[in-house]
Amino acid sequence: MKTIYNFSAGPAMLPLSVLSQIKKDLYNWKGLGISVMEISHRNEHFLQLVQEIEQDLRDLLQIPSNYKVLFCQGGARGQFSAVPINLLDEFSNNPDYIESGYWSQAARIEAEKYCVPNIINVKKEYNGKKYILSPHNWKISKRPAYIHYCPNETIDGTAVYEEPSMDNKIIVGDFSSALLSSFINVKKYGIIYASAQKNIGISGITLVIIRDDLLKKSKNVAPSILDYKILSYHNSMFNTPPTFSWYVSGLILKWLKNMGGVKKIEFINKVKSDLLYKTIDNSDLYFNDINHLNRSNMNVTFRLLNKNLIDLFEKESFNNGLHALRGHRIVGGFRASIYNAMPIEGIKELIKFMVYFENKYG
Ligand SMILES: *Cc1c(COP(=O)(O)O)cnc(C)c1O
Repeated sequence: MKTIYNFSAGPAMLPLSVLSQIKKDLYNWKGLGISVMEISHRNEHFLQLVQEIEQDLRDLLQIPSNYKVLFCQGGARGQFSAVPINLLDEFSNNPDYIESGYWSQAARIEAEKYCVPNIINVKKEYNGKKYILSPHNWKISKRPAYIHYCPNETIDGTAVYEEPSMDNKIIVGDFSSALLSSFINVKKYGIIYASAQKNIGISGITLVIIRDDLLKKSKNVAPSILDYKILSYHNSMFNTPPTFSWYVSGLILKWLKNMGGVKKIEFINKVKSDLLYKTIDNSDLYFNDINHLNRSNMNVTFRLLNKNLIDLFEKESFNNGLHALRGHRIVGGFRASIYNAMPIEGIKELIKFMVYFENKYG
């Protein structure tokens, strides 16, 4: 069978070794004679597993001890509600929402149910190139309740690599397609959240890393399953957690540790995305109009100058084992999502195909 390289934006590909481990564990996890899916989340073996998962995450991201790690449900979109519900009270000013693309805008639209967010547009264009204002040029309000932003816009293919550094302000980051792809300084944030199905496993579980003083803020009207205080008090087991997703995240963290950790994978991710952008920039058929400093190393978008070739490119790439390259329906074009699990061989195969296709039809 030909090797398939899956460029899906999420749920996304998993490392082969993780899939093999799941298969090996499936009927008989830890010698218990049953699957991890079939035991109680209060079982001692499961409790030990989740402790290990939290420790691995803390090691990988060097999470300071005054931060709690929560494993939540409801995806990143659940956090679009949880953040304002937990952080706002009747004395709060409105929060600032940095708009850099589709997902940061979706977060702001959800927040409008609870407050009147200050919308800060940082999407700009110069000389025909799209770019994102760097954080020190963001026009932040005087005393926002918090500042929400999205470092990697999964659909637009843009990224902000500079970390916002703002004294005494609560920065909330939607890291759904960025967490664990490059090293970050957790201390700069009030809350970091990410749903798992891009870089941390499969859908169903959402990571929240929260500075512990922010746990006290939630109002009593918050739905309990979104209430950080309650989730923290119950060690993310207020209600039945998605145990299988949690377990898969654990395998991914172990895999990442074996790969050499976050700084190592960051280096590899840069090599991978540079190769792909170089191919696009050197071509007369493909183009990407995003400023180099804001090009995502996770979601590489590109378009074809000859629109008549779009369907053919999709069909032929698929037939060559390169799956899910079509861009998101709202932006069109193509997108190669190349999260941590995408091996460099997959990038090379894609480049080989792109060059072949251009030579043949371009
Ligand atoms: C995928 C994604 C989301 C949505 O995640 P769900 O788990 O489907 O709610 C939100 N923000 C970003 C940046 C994403 O990439």
